[in-house]
Amino acid sequence: MKVLVIGAGGREHALVWSISRSRRVSEVVCAPGNAGIAQLARCIPASPKDLDDLLRVTGSEGPDLVVVGPELPLSLGLVDELQRRSIPVFGPTQKAAQLESSKAFAKRFMQRHKIPTAAYAVATSEQQALESIDLFHLPLVIKADGLASGKGVLMCETRREATEAISGLMGGKLLGSVQSSIVIEEFLTGEEISFLTMTDGKHVVPMAPAQDHKRIGEGDKGPNTGGMGAYSTDGMVDDQMREWIVNHIALPTVNGMAAEDSAFVGVLYCGLMMTARGPMVLEFNARFGDPETQAILSRLDCDLVATLEACVEGRLSDTELRWKPGASACVIAASAGYPGSYVTGRRISGLEEAARVPGVEIFHSGTALVDGHYVTEGGRVLGVTAAAATLDQSLSLVYEALGRIQFEGMYYRRDIGHRSLKSA
Ligand code: AMP
Repeated sequence: MKVLVIGAGGREHALVWSISRSRRVSEVVCAPGNAGIAQLARCIPASPKDLDDLLRVTGSEGPDLVVVGPELPLSLGLVDELQRRSIPVFGPTQKAAQLESSKAFAKRFMQRHKIPTAAYAVATSEQQALESIDLFHLPLVIKADGLASGKGVLMCETRREATEAISGLMGGKLLGSVQSSIVIEEFLTGEEISFLTMTDGKHVVPMAPAQDHKRIGEGDKGPNTGGMGAYSTDGMVDDQMREWIVNHIALPTVNGMAAEDSAFVGVLYCGLMMTARGPMVLEFNARFGDPETQAILSRLDCDLVATLEACVEGRLSDTELRWKPGASACVIAASAGYPGSYVTGRRISGLEEAARVPGVEIFHSGTALVDGHYVTEGGRVLGVTAAAATLDQSLSLVYEALGRIQFEGMYYRRDIGHRSLKSA
């Protein structure tokens, strides 16, 4: 079969890598892909932001399955359009993807279905928002309702910070566009876990759990990024806790969406805070995470495509996922200046030597091939990934490989996994 993957980052490289290992797959194509993905799949120029472009590519390629990586095409309704054309597609419809694309929708949905989450209020005017903050203890959290690439969440220690956050979001200064709706939320404390599941709209299959590091600086300091690293270990979530999360969070979400005539098919990513009151949902994502996917798929020990197809065909109850025991880690190499402005076009050397470290996979997040040489083409450039018997071993392999790679201004965090190693 022929599989088309939509997207251009490290997540899509890991998906293409995993999909191309399936015996059922004869060809993988990717739109638009990147220079790393091009080692495994034919890449077709297209903009993931342009629905017509993506429909044109899908129409001309005629894939047997489409796998959508990023959130934007989901929120634009790519899945709905492909379903209308009877093209099998893995991902939720526009309506179902609201679990990610609207935080107000997700909070109201969780309240309707008694899914554990922080106490909240939704405000649609500055006046209403200012009145609502008095209902919360400090610190509190203020979130833009819509997709904001991780930039729409503000922790406020004081009432003044909250007031500034509200006017910054609703006045348009903070995100560059006016937010007509915001969510105010109780501040939760605990360990964060990314609990990804695959679903066919009725059944749920959990993936290996992961944790990610969003901040640019070591010690989890400094501005938020798309993600500077992720890791996965068996010990993060034990069997009993996994069952609890499936039965009290993932399944009620899938059942609730189906009951509301909005069946959710694809990856239901539950961003959880493991609080003293039990796991609570911080956010839902409607797709694989980046860089969690690189860490998670490196531990997969079965055919991903069989499960993707089972989801699309509504027969996930027959399927389960197998995982390599132990752990994995992915560390992102970024361009100097990221997440602020950065230069591109820096020549990358040492990729072949790094790939020779046993067990290491190098997933490209933002690279291009110019005159036969890989060059940087994004803020996040590479995701160096390894799976091994322990987290310590995975990290040693990753850092050994990173030590062999160079480009001007290359930056990576040397403390990925430190939270887990400390508690181990
Ligand atoms: P979100 O996009 O809603 O997941 O928020 C991004 C990040 O903000 C999360 O990964 C958490 O680290 C933090 N966060 C979000 N909501 C809360 C909350 N209610 N309490 C504490 N931290 C939060």
